[in-house]
Amino acid sequence: MVLLLFGPPGSGKGTQSGRIADWLGIPAISTGDMLREEIQAGTPLGAAAKSIMAGGGLVGDDLVNRMLAQRVSAPDSAHGFLLDGYPRTVEQAEFLDGLLAERHLQTPIVLHLDVPMDALVGRLTSRRQCPKCKRIYNLLQMPPRVPGVCDDDGTPLITRKDDSEEVVTERIRTYDEVTRPVLAYYQDRKYHQIRGDRSPSYIFEEITGILEPLVSKNGASCCAKAKAKQSSDGFAAL
Ligand SMILES: [Zn+2]
Repeated sequence: MVLLLFGPPGSGKGTQSGRIADWLGIPAISTGDMLREEIQAGTPLGAAAKSIMAGGGLVGDDLVNRMLAQRVSAPDSAHGFLLDGYPRTVEQAEFLDGLLAERHLQTPIVLHLDVPMDALVGRLTSRRQCPKCKRIYNLLQMPPRVPGVCDDDGTPLITRKDDSEEVVTERIRTYDEVTRPVLAYYQDRKYHQIRGDRSPSYIFEEITGILEPLVSKNGASCCAKAKAKQSSDGFAAL
């Protein structure tokens, strides 16, 4: 099963991504995290990405596509995977279609966490951080025990610059602009819009409700195919 998870900053996408991946026993792959890891490890790919970003540019489709293709050919992805932060452009979405067809994997299931702009701004601007231990609090969902100070070390909490209302609004607007054409690309496929302005547990329950019938109906045949492919072309050796 291949899942694509979309959601604006502040939608709780990271939390859901981890829970879904654990539940299905597939890896959650974040292309943003991968790029950072490649750069840190100093791989040729990381070096290329680093020089692009140092020049203020965005890492291009070609590089991200190559990185993704390499990652999903790892043995842990043979039965499927969850993608977070990819595809970010229609070109990447087309590339992914080709890649999945090549591997005899089914078309992806798209989960779109949709949260109204006001709710997102409210959530993100109520974030506070401890400048000493870096712990993140949220005045709405996860407030400190004593208002204004860190539970662990008593340091006064601060609002990070990128959590100011102006910056938050701009981040959401950019996300929306970039993502809209990609969501449109998937609209008439296995596309599920999920209301993200509810508790994480409630959202997770809705997601498992969507996926459960698909797992029991298609899971076996999809995995059998992946297994057959794995043994026929020495997949495990990669
Ligand atoms: Zn602290």
